[in-house]
Amino acid sequence: MKIKDIIKENQAIFSCEIFPPKSYMNIDKTKAVAKAICDLNPDFVSVTYGAGGGTSKQTVEIARYINDTGNTALAHLTCASSDRQEVGAAIEKLKSYGIENILALRGDILEENKDKPRDFTYASELVTEIKRHGDFCIGAACYPEGHVECESMEQDLNNLKTKVDCGVDFLTTQMFFDNTAFYSFMFRALKKGIHVPIIAGIMPMTNSAQIVRSCKLSGATLPTRFRRIADKFGDNPEAMKQAGIAYATEQIIDLIANGVKGIHLYTMNKPDVAQQIMSNLSFIVGADRICMK
Ligand code: FAD
Repeated sequence: MKIKDIIKENQAIFSCEIFPPKSYMNIDKTKAVAKAICDLNPDFVSVTYGAGGGTSKQTVEIARYINDTGNTALAHLTCASSDRQEVGAAIEKLKSYGIENILALRGDILEENKDKPRDFTYASELVTEIKRHGDFCIGAACYPEGHVECESMEQDLNNLKTKVDCGVDFLTTQMFFDNTAFYSFMFRALKKGIHVPIIAGIMPMTNSAQIVRSCKLSGATLPTRFRRIADKFGDNPEAMKQAGIAYATEQIIDLIANGVKGIHLYTMNKPDVAQQIMSNLSFIVGADRICMK
């Protein structure tokens, strides 16, 4: 099913993200994770695409597996490290497997490849390319606190508007830990004329190493309230996990109470964390979602 139709039919949707294994040898392990996540009955499950396209085969295989379990898959696809032919082949493969939803991304550009010529410079060009290949539902990324490379939020929003106008059906945000950053972004996006549904990306921070790494990569700000939690419980894995789950739960409740269109959980391949958050929200996102399949 196309995600844009799922969004239309529901008040607030709930989705999960998983990443594929680096090596095809470990595909069964990730399928077990995918199965456990699908058993939570989210509205869709997205599968990331390893930086540089190294996991292309695994991404497609896991997305296909998700569709086979009766869930809806969203396959991520990046373009910065691939030429037009490789990107075209990846899209055709998704089409042949019946995968209808693609998250169109540029991907990160490695320092050593910065000046190399490439077929795709921005994700907006990938959106156009996907549309050339067929009738896909296309998602794209957005950044409530601005993309790390962009000089100003204003310019980033102008670039986002260009990308959406190329044919994006919905947006998913980078992780954020302060809901006011998201509300302010929503307001500015609307003012720019961006009217596609925006799904809020939430990352439950369950260990201290992950907190440092994720914030560095994403550029997301850690509010003082969360910093205090990390300072207090960072050395105690069980306590940090519990506090991280509670913090993400509170963020989600506030977002849903304020009418957000959807929540996307960065699960980090931890079904138990996703399960606990879903149970915390059982009467909020709908009791019938938990363990229906
Ligand atoms: P773009 O939309 O192309 O934007 C990149 C930068 O270029 C921004 O600063 C933007 O303002 C600027 N820009 C855009 N258009 C123009 C223009 N016309 N002129 C000038 N500047 C412009 N990475 C992976 O490798 N694999 C994944 O699976 C993956 N999944 C992700 C999922 C989500 C929800 C998010 C938020 C990010 C994900 N990423 C993933 C990371 C993403 O690839 C990086 O953040 C990347 O640096 C930017 O990708 P983009 O698609 O947002 O790029």
